[in-house]
Amino acid sequence: MKKIFLDGSQYASLQYRRVLEGQYRWVSMEIVRSTEYREDNQQVVMYIRDINDDYLKLLQIAMCHTLDSVGIVSANISQGICLSFAGRRDELECQSEESIDTYIQRVSEMIPMPESREHFCQVFSQQNMLKRFTEGTAALSMEAAFFYSEEQQPCVLRINVDMACNSFSREIEGVLHFTDITVAYLIENVPQKIYQKDYENIIIIDAKREKMIKTDVLSSVISDYLKKEEAYEGYRSYSSHRAVVESERERFKKCVELSAIKEGLRKDKQYFFTIHETDKTGEVRLKRYSYIYIDERVDIIVGAREDITEFSEKDVLTGGYNRRGFLRITERLLNKVPDRTKYAVLFFNVKNFKVVNELFGVESGDVALQNIFKTLIHSKLSPVITARVESDHFVCLVENKNLDFEELTSVCDNKFIKDGKCMNLIIRCGIFYVEEKPMKISGMIDRAKLAKRYITDEYVQPYMVYDQSMQVAYVDKAKLAGELQEGIAKEQFKVYYQPVIDTKTGKIASAEALIRWIHPDKGFISPALFIPALEENGHISELDFYVLKKVWQFISDRCENNKFVVPISVNLSWMDFYDEIMMEKILKEMDRFRENGREHMARFEITETSYAAIRENRSGILESLRIKNAKILLDDFGSGFSSFGMLQDYDFDILKIDMSFIRKIGENPKTKSIVHSIIGMAHEIGIKTVAEGVETEEQVSFLRQSGCDYIQGYYYSKPLPEEEFVEFLEKADAE
Ligand code: C2E
Ligand code: CA
Ligand code: CA
Repeated sequence: MKKIFLDGSQYASLQYRRVLEGQYRWVSMEIVRSTEYREDNQQVVMYIRDINDDYLKLLQIAMCHTLDSVGIVSANISQGICLSFAGRRDELECQSEESIDTYIQRVSEMIPMPESREHFCQVFSQQNMLKRFTEGTAALSMEAAFFYSEEQQPCVLRINVDMACNSFSREIEGVLHFTDITVAYLIENVPQKIYQKDYENIIIIDAKREKMIKTDVLSSVISDYLKKEEAYEGYRSYSSHRAVVESERERFKKCVELSAIKEGLRKDKQYFFTIHETDKTGEVRLKRYSYIYIDERVDIIVGAREDITEFSEKDVLTGGYNRRGFLRITERLLNKVPDRTKYAVLFFNVKNFKVVNELFGVESGDVALQNIFKTLIHSKLSPVITARVESDHFVCLVENKNLDFEELTSVCDNKFIKDGKCMNLIIRCGIFYVEEKPMKISGMIDRAKLAKRYITDEYVQPYMVYDQSMQVAYVDKAKLAGELQEGIAKEQFKVYYQPVIDTKTGKIASAEALIRWIHPDKGFISPALFIPALEENGHISELDFYVLKKVWQFISDRCENNKFVVPISVNLSWMDFYDEIMMEKILKEMDRFRENGREHMARFEITETSYAAIRENRSGILESLRIKNAKILLDDFGSGFSSFGMLQDYDFDILKIDMSFIRKIGENPKTKSIVHSIIGMAHEIGIKTVAEGVETEEQVSFLRQSGCDYIQGYYYSKPLPEEEFVEFLEKADAE
């Protein structure tokens, strides 16, 4: 006190607590120096005031300004009573002199989770606090989620008690702090669950109260958590729903229903769906909405929206784009460039890819595809965009100035080497020059693909440029199935017959049935165009069976009328061998044919592309047909890679030497030897030979010398419509 006066101060005060009328109260002791008797240093006034009520009020105000403290309760733990409360949340207020245990019990009712509630009551019971203090622990602490009331947001509070022994009374006193740590809790827990990725938007849903908060960045979610909550009300809360493409809006509404989210989370712990949205530039992008519980026990869900467009556009195998990616990126690029006609879309297909898988295994097949992709991107074509659009189909967007046809030819000549074995991959390419007029990218791909079908000999020229005339014959695959039914019903399909000539006699020995589609609008469509499409969509068998019935009807009619006829072969697609119903139908039809004694007229042409299918179905279909006296022809011999495997594993009656050999008879000196040996080899194993695609005198004379049994080709006759074929037969019969 002396020091205060020596400093020259006029006033000093000290606040402390003391027992007044049996209660602890805050008091203030103040000393004032007399100013009237300035010289007389002995004159002071000292008085003691009860400031308890005012002091607590001030304390309360101070507390309100500390953001995260929501309440402080002071208590006399030895006596087990609460003394006073200060803080923002009235719910946490204690009555004066309320027993600690009743108070704790009352507060615990705001804790929704039973284990947590029990733990709270146990830790802060008078008995436990005293015990822990005597054991030497002066502070206790725990965290719990609180619901103050149904209407209010849940929050996470940290509760701790600091205890001390009052040196004056020797009693243990304590202060309980309630601190709101919701924000810190979210910062710690939300990111762990969802912040590994770049989410565009995050919402936190209080599913119990059907409330949510939404924002674009996580940090503001946290700090706004206590302020900006709004009703969830399903999709309406998402301003983004307007961006969802029209056709998916209904589905979107269902997906964001709170009940759907909860149901999904109940089943799998995570719930997500994808939806297309249009962004500000009008581009459609793929969004993924995913939801997880932050805390399942209090029904707090975090939802996030993520743009997975790029991710969904990648081809896992090659690392390039997939079809979806190609469509979007190309569309964007072509819309941006000043002159889109400076680009071309290239479609590549590996003709014999199935063989790679068969011979080398699927893993090698994958490597082969990766190699092709690398060849494409590193080629001098320098594609702007490269994608694998499906299994062995690739597309590129190339600048016309880089479209060097020599380079393209060498790109198409791709080799696959494994364990010292080398295999030529036959790659074919269709080219579509981008036109000025607007067109969907998928339409460009289709046109390039269409052009590819016009390649007649990939060894000579493995590419073909699209031109308008091809469009006339363009068969829309989506419509094809329907058109096929209609075509069959309306007899648009016509069977043509190409005579096969006996080399020795020069007379007709047999014929091959070849299908023609006379389309009402498009006119004549080559089978080379629609057969691959029908094979892709699985409808080829219907057509093959239709041809078979027509042909056998034709033979039966001729026989019944005692007219001259020859055996006629029908082509079977590899698809047919995967179709057991088709196989049964053929066998049944064959039995009927036999009843009338015409089975020796039945012939089937199959190619090595059926090798895998025949091996797989193991039904012994070829044997069954041969037992019933049909003849089996191995078509296109030498065009692929399993010709010899086929020849070794199955029995054939006739071998058809592929056109590609016949065509080179005059050109390549080696070809003659090859054809010569094929014929010799066939004869050695008791098989007759047909040369296909024979067009010249030279070819005929060589084949005759080599002992080829039969000749088929334009030299003798093109495939003929039925009436003309009948004439051909009558003429032959008359000779
Ligand atoms: P393919 O079985 O190898 O049929 C022979 C093809 O060569 C026919 O073509 C025929 O018109 C043609 N050709 C015949 N002689 C000559 C010639 O001297 N020079 C040239 N350049 N070509 C000749 P087409 O009719 O266009 O048939 C193409 C392919 O379509 C056939 O090849 C066959 O694989 C398939 N195809 C035709 N009809 C059917 C059918 O009914 N079912 C099935 N599954 N495929 C069929
Ligand atoms: Ca054939
Ligand atoms: Ca053939």
